[in-house]
Amino acid sequence: MFERQRPLNDRERQPGPVVCWISRDLRAEDHWGLALAQQDALERTQPLLVVFCLQTAYLGALPRAFSFMRTGLSETKASLAEKNLPLMILEGPPQDMLPDFCRLASAGVVYCDFSPLRLARAWRSQLAEKLSIPLIEVDAHNVIPCWLASDHQEYGAYTFRPKVSRLLDRFLIAPPALLSHPFSLDSQTRLDLLRLDKREKLPLAPDSSNAQPQPGSRAAKAALQSFIRERLALFDRRNDPNERAASGLSPWLHFGQLAPLRAALDVRGPSAQQAAFLEELIVRRELSDNFCYYNPAYDQFAGFPSWAQATLLRHRGDLRPHLYSLDQLEAAQTADPLWNAAQRELSASGQMPGYLRMYWCKKILEWTPDPETAQADAIFLNDRYFLDGRDPNGYAGIAWSIGGVHDRAWGERPVFGKVRQMTLAGCRRKFDVDRYIQSVDAAERNEHG
Ligand SMILES: Cc1cc2nc3c(=O)[nH]c(=O)nc-3n(C[C@H](O)[C@H](O)[C@H](O)COP(=O)(O)OP(=O)(O)OC[C@H]3O[C@@H](n4cnc5c(N)ncnc54)[C@H](O)[C@@H]3O)c2cc1C
Repeated sequence: MFERQRPLNDRERQPGPVVCWISRDLRAEDHWGLALAQQDALERTQPLLVVFCLQTAYLGALPRAFSFMRTGLSETKASLAEKNLPLMILEGPPQDMLPDFCRLASAGVVYCDFSPLRLARAWRSQLAEKLSIPLIEVDAHNVIPCWLASDHQEYGAYTFRPKVSRLLDRFLIAPPALLSHPFSLDSQTRLDLLRLDKREKLPLAPDSSNAQPQPGSRAAKAALQSFIRERLALFDRRNDPNERAASGLSPWLHFGQLAPLRAALDVRGPSAQQAAFLEELIVRRELSDNFCYYNPAYDQFAGFPSWAQATLLRHRGDLRPHLYSLDQLEAAQTADPLWNAAQRELSASGQMPGYLRMYWCKKILEWTPDPETAQADAIFLNDRYFLDGRDPNGYAGIAWSIGGVHDRAWGERPVFGKVRQMTLAGCRRKFDVDRYIQSVDAAERNEHG
């Protein structure tokens, strides 16, 4: 289990309390970072403090994403408190807030979780530099720690899958449950730290409005169990948006309110549907982390494979059937009724069926002046509106749709070149497009009474 962790600096260990800073994995259960931090604290008879650094803005997310995260965090805070583990909320960038916090706590070591994204990595590397104690990173998100699954950017699922298969038995193991922690801070340090704690920024009770889905680890576990009972058997129909056969777990997975490991352990089994779900949950999802971790241009044209860059450059000047501004796209004002319905569903609910995400993004390539604009507009809309946006899956999904990442070359077409194209006629052949549009219309009518 120590394979899951690695040091981010070479500072010497000090005798004080253990701090665990969580930023991507915001749950109390099935959390390898917390489990390893607690084991360390127990061995050294030290208190364990859990910290979260709240930001007022993050990659363009709408307030509903913050609300989902903060409500989930208040449940996590209560669950940790039951184990005598205080969760402190600091406000500001982690690399600015944590060094002072650690000095005040006389901390001996800091644990943190892992993210492959640029901003999150910059926080960690600046923090590692500023701290005078060790910073230890634990991949609490991926089933197989990202840096162990592969040591380079994978070409596609076909190259990544065998590596995952080889390592799965070694890593598909739940961490030990947190124990009630026997060591507490002395009362003066506790009082000093409480002055920094912005706990009032968390909602007092989980938001029980009818917004879907409900935030928090309890709701996540309920959603996982209901998926296993009611929809897993239909999983091979997930490409039909009318079936709603996919799990719908991505918002909880994104905010770390549900561990992918937990979903994998509860779903695994011999059936084709179980295998198909694990392929999405482990191979495809962890391939996105691999892409963002090893490709610094994961959100830029330069991050596309060279064949895709070449073909897109060759077709740069092709006549586009329509050109829409970002405002028109955002307002779902295109000539394509399926695309508009998908965009309206996204604006209203923060979600969109997986199959339509591909169509939605590929159309943006067709309707903007060049691939760079298409990628920037898609990232803006994805990160702003999707509840699970701002995630490696989003950057990889957009790079797949527009830039052929993890895909292969197809027959050459206008605008797309050899990048795979999707059309409205193709969608009509696959599923009942009108029924989907009607369902979005009906949801809007319900919403407006
Ligand atoms: C253009 C585009 C943008 C996307 N943006 C995001 C995003 O912002 N956030 C996000 O989490 N996913 C994104 N995806 C990936 C995928 O569409 C969603 O993860 C999936 O639709 C979520 O629904 P679900 O939980 O019901 O998935 P299920 O089909 O039930 O799959 C279970 C889990 O497996 C993972 N998964 C499924 N499909 C993929 C995939 N293609 N790539 C990587 N992981 C996958 C997800 O974690 C998902 O929750 C995007 C895909 C595309 C093509």
